[in-house]
Amino acid sequence: MTARQNRQWRLTARPVGLFKESDFKWTVEPVPEIGDGQLLVHNLYLSLDPTNRGWANEADTYLPAVKLGDVMRGGTIGVVEESRNPDFAVGDHVSGLLGWQEYAVSNGAGITKLPHNPAIPLTAYMGLFGHIGATAYFGLLDIGRPKEGETLVVSAAAGAVGSIVGQIGKIKGCRVVGIAGSEQKCRWLVDDLGFDAAIDYKKEDVSASLKQHCPNGIDIDFENVGGRIFDAVLAQINLRARIVLCGLISGYNAAEPVPGPYNFAMILIKRARVEGFIVMDYMNRAEEAFRDLGSWLMSGRLKYRVDEVVGLEQAPTAINGLFTGSNIGKLVVKI
Ligand code: NDP
Repeated sequence: MTARQNRQWRLTARPVGLFKESDFKWTVEPVPEIGDGQLLVHNLYLSLDPTNRGWANEADTYLPAVKLGDVMRGGTIGVVEESRNPDFAVGDHVSGLLGWQEYAVSNGAGITKLPHNPAIPLTAYMGLFGHIGATAYFGLLDIGRPKEGETLVVSAAAGAVGSIVGQIGKIKGCRVVGIAGSEQKCRWLVDDLGFDAAIDYKKEDVSASLKQHCPNGIDIDFENVGGRIFDAVLAQINLRARIVLCGLISGYNAAEPVPGPYNFAMILIKRARVEGFIVMDYMNRAEEAFRDLGSWLMSGRLKYRVDEVVGLEQAPTAINGLFTGSNIGKLVVKI
């Protein structure tokens, strides 16, 4: 045992509604010694993602449920501090699902070595050059298949995924309309990111505003939210619309089964295609996405934003910002 301490958040209760700090237990343990083939990673950043809420439920999702008592699962970026694995050297920066803790021991499975590029901040590998960028890129391009002149609607548009989706839509020649939860977010989308219009769903009549901003109907819906926003969009889709089912965040904290969508018949009437996807299935093609995203970033056609909270102890409260909408861009914790 070394003298170093590992600070961790363990999941100790199944959350009901939003996360509560009492759903977790703060534990401090000695940092373990590593064995042959293992590495010790000092986590520097933790990614907070809407999907974390689903992982904390009793039922498995696309990954097994986090067991009560286990360190909460979470995406991390860290630095290798010790290595007895020939594939990793001390000082390597790595990403993986190493959880809500300061140190993690790994055998290297599922750990990605990050490139050494001082021009790119480490947090970008949780955003544009990580699962977020890949979600936006493959979701929109592979599933949404945008064509020049089409109208794209994006919900949770000022969040990590949505803000990138809308900008890729503009690069591909679409009319892009974002839906977000504040005036400040809407202004950012239009003034800084070049969206054609943005709808503040907390203040506006979403159906009326969609009618106004999508005069030719909606060809692609990049759906991050579900619920009444999804229904309003469905009512205005065009023939052969594509619905990219990326997320349904409005239902993630629901204690009762979520109803709808009520306008389901529009999928039939408009011969629309609805396709769900999980970004993990695309990570073997991630380089494709990062090449394009990188070149758009360098040429100034794409911007991204990171919303950083400081201190691992903040994680259980900070994560609720994803559900109350306090974040703009990618929410991360600097451990
Ligand atoms: P965001 O950074 O977009 O944060 C979530 C945002 O959702 C909030 O900022 C909030 O913004 C909005 N929101 C929360 N609750 C509601 C609600 N009830 N109604 C309307 N808007 C709401 O998170 P991500 O970019 O990480 O994720 C966006 C979506 O993409 C999520 O649904 C997530 O599950 C999904 N996702 C799916 C992946 C996949 O592989 N399929 C991979 C990554 C993400 P506002 O102020 O606008 O309300």
